[in-house]
Amino acid sequence: MKTRIVSIANQKGGVGKTTTAINLGASLAVRGMRTLLIDLDPQGNASTGLGISRSGRGKSAYDVLLGDIAPSDAAVLTDVDNLSIIPATMDLASADNEMMKSSRRVMHLRDALRLHPMEYDYVLIDCPPNLNLLTINSFVASDTILVPLQAEFFALEGLSQLLVTVRDVRKSANADLRIEGILLTMFDRRNNLCLQVEEDVRENLGDLVLQTKIPRNVRLSEAPSYAMPVINYDPTSRGAIAYRSLAGELLQRNEEALLTDG
Ligand code: ADP
Ligand code: MG
Repeated sequence: MKTRIVSIANQKGGVGKTTTAINLGASLAVRGMRTLLIDLDPQGNASTGLGISRSGRGKSAYDVLLGDIAPSDAAVLTDVDNLSIIPATMDLASADNEMMKSSRRVMHLRDALRLHPMEYDYVLIDCPPNLNLLTINSFVASDTILVPLQAEFFALEGLSQLLVTVRDVRKSANADLRIEGILLTMFDRRNNLCLQVEEDVRENLGDLVLQTKIPRNVRLSEAPSYAMPVINYDPTSRGAIAYRSLAGELLQRNEEALLTDG
């Protein structure tokens, strides 16, 4: 299987990007997919959530972007079989400025991933909450973008700005970039506004919206403080079940796409 590179992005903070990166990554890994998570947010929440302490971070995403380091040399194993992570360190916050000086400023991540052979089925990239150069690097390097969307009133407005950026990247640097899917997160089926927003989003975006919805579930917010994905912390929680079925849905969509292409 060719490595599939997926950006997890939404310029809005707090919509579930990092939670999705950790828990989708772990759910793909337990299905036997060799999975690499790249923590591209200077805050480093994905790294912390998977138990990589700040002092235990050697090579990082910064070194991959700017230091000629092979991704596999910056990757560290997590406690989940088949799941590795390239951690983020504080210096990632200056990467935007430093890449700005280079003529291949949007290509740094793609060059790094292409230059070095990788033994992964999935690479998931946890993007920062903006559409700056780190996120653009992620889009240029990716096959697809998975967009976590919190079901709330202004959700669709932010999305149109994201889709404009995707169109620009397609025109300039990555013509094959596609949307993997829109993922409704923190969903509360007892909340009428949530149901209304879901209806709106499905009406406007159709098949782009994934069938799986991630419920609001306190286990998902507790798990990172135990440095575990939710499928280990509480395997029978509604959050764990949802992320496992998200992995199933993506794998199935991917297989169907391969069949139609072939
Ligand atoms: P982002 O990476 O987009 O900023 P996070 O994944 O860090 O968002 O989520 C923001 C906060 O919401 C975190 O405290 C996280 O634990 C919590 N959270 C995320 N998804 C859920 C969910 N489905 N149910 C409950 N809490 C959630
Ligand atoms: Mg985050």
